[in-house]
Amino acid sequence: MTDSVKSLPLTLMPDAILQMQTQIVDDVTSVETQSLIDQMFVTMKVEHGVGLAATQIGLSLRLAVIDADGQKFTLINPVIIKKSDERITFPEGCLSIPGKEFEIIRHEKIVVRYLDRTGKTCKIKLKGFLAVVFQHEIDHLDGIVIAHRYKEQADLRRDLNL
Ligand SMILES: [Zn+2]
Repeated sequence: MTDSVKSLPLTLMPDAILQMQTQIVDDVTSVETQSLIDQMFVTMKVEHGVGLAATQIGLSLRLAVIDADGQKFTLINPVIIKKSDERITFPEGCLSIPGKEFEIIRHEKIVVRYLDRTGKTCKIKLKGFLAVVFQHEIDHLDGIVIAHRYKEQADLRRDLNL
């Protein structure tokens, strides 16, 4: 990554693009997609995020980057293929909702299938914080932000006595 890669302006709530389903990425190894991924990593770093979805820079694509727990991931067309019954609750922030945190209930363990930036199919088992970050970013790709999740989980919080 070179210094010439510029960070991109963030899309903030209630921008409509944050609330839309995104499109499959089918040109993973194209110059455009590769330079977009570089720009997303730079933007995430500049904004001090642990994850950034394409919708957060105004693009309707199933693409997100993550830098959490000392590990970097590029998630292209990710799908959660397994979810544990055990739950984890964590105060989550979002670059698109500055200054706010929401206690979101997530699956404690998940298995995700995705393409990495070389187009290789990957399958990864995650738990705890990394599982939370992956679920947060994959929610973005389905047009769901934490403010929606929080509202939707009112009954679940009551059932779990939270
Ligand atoms: Zn977010």
